Amino acid sequence: MPLLYILLYYTHLTFYLNLEKEKSIMEISNGAVVANGNGMIRKKRWGFKANERIIGCDSTIRGTLSKLTSHLNPHDPRPTVPFSQGDPSPFPSFRTSPVVEDAIVEALRSAKFNSYSPNCGVLNARRAVAEYLSNDLPMKLSPDQVLLTAGASGAIALIISVLARPGANILLPQPGYLFYNTRAAFSNLECRSYDLLPEQDWEVDLNTVEALADENTVAMVIINPGNPCGNVYSYHHLKKVAETAEKLGILVIADEVYGHIAFRDNPFVPMGVFGSIVPIITLGSLSKRWVVPGWRLGWIAAIDPNGILVESKIMESLNVCLNMTNYPATFIQGAVPQILEKTNGEFFERILNMLRQTSDILVDELREIDCITCPHKPQGAMFSMVKLNVSLLQDIKDDMEFSIKLAKEESVLVLPGSSMGIKNWLRIMFAIEPDLLKDGLERIKSFCQRHAKQN
Ligand SMILES: *Cc1c(COP(=O)(O)O)cnc(C)c1O
Repeated sequence: MPLLYILLYYTHLTFYLNLEKEKSIMEISNGAVVANGNGMIRKKRWGFKANERIIGCDSTIRGTLSKLTSHLNPHDPRPTVPFSQGDPSPFPSFRTSPVVEDAIVEALRSAKFNSYSPNCGVLNARRAVAEYLSNDLPMKLSPDQVLLTAGASGAIALIISVLARPGANILLPQPGYLFYNTRAAFSNLECRSYDLLPEQDWEVDLNTVEALADENTVAMVIINPGNPCGNVYSYHHLKKVAETAEKLGILVIADEVYGHIAFRDNPFVPMGVFGSIVPIITLGSLSKRWVVPGWRLGWIAAIDPNGILVESKIMESLNVCLNMTNYPATFIQGAVPQILEKTNGEFFERILNMLRQTSDILVDELREIDCITCPHKPQGAMFSMVKLNVSLLQDIKDDMEFSIKLAKEESVLVLPGSSMGIKNWLRIMFAIEPDLLKDGLERIKSFCQRHAKQN
């Protein structure tokens, strides 16, 4: 009996020792330090390292947002008000239509969409997008002019890669959507910012566009309806943009992710209407109008009756580039025809009514806050750019400090304009449940009163 114990103990011990030996070998190969013969420690040299350009491209919005959230007070029992986000889908009033949810279930259950898809997208889905866009155009698009991408972000990445020839530059709106700057930096495409004019309903300052463009300019981006300004441009203004681009010989990239999200007098006019003046690349997605940003279904459409995009090999390059990137999940693509054809007008009306109501609340409440002014009542999309007058505040020097103290004291998140290149402005998203929206604006009001200069 004792012998058996000894034997058991012995096998256990050797097993344990082997384990320890293996562990120390692992530590040596994973760690950065290695013991040499004399018991000295030297740094091991690994043959790999991250590409420095990647971290250099990180967007300042994301950095700013994580900085703001780090200042939130975890002991505040009140809910955080996310005016800084661009995603209304968590709020019950902004839930997508059952028609849209059913389309996905049916596509999934059909077992027809379990395969890889063609890189440019499932034909029926591309045809449905072509028809959806053609409804508002003077010409009919063919499915070949439409490619499906992983959200509009995928479309931005794609077109930027294709345009980024050495030495080329692109004109971007300021304030604008920083993902363009990030992707351009990643592709070594130079960005030049043109101004939007707050006193003129955030229209494009076409003089700066002309002044910035040179023989290496390839395109200008226009965001309509606009993030972050809430603009909806008139037919007349869009025509002038098209004529300017034609004069400069550059492509227009029309970001219409908020297409049809226009809830006041100005109707949405797609840039593609001017495709016979200048070639247009339109970007869109299900993310905003159908309130499903997580589904990652976007598109890129070439509206170019004169065939300039074919001649310049842009179309061919987009297709080649798609072979090197990821397309949206096949069953989501499979649901696209039903989503585009069957979503009823009532759903869109309900969302537009919500946005009209919430943007009214925003503008009305801001009137009672002295240090914040809204130069332009939002006409579309989900955002407003408002101006901060820091000279009326006693212990706040700029928009960044305002946003940090507001997060800390009131659990309200707003995006400082300086993260988008325009200082002492704030971007406020109003697609929020009305009660929470009012609560958040009340908190901004008492914050501003508390910090106001006394005189
Ligand atoms: C949200 C947004 C996008 C990205 O759209 P996804 O479909 O979510 O990738 C592109 N441009 C603008 C202006 C946006 O606001």
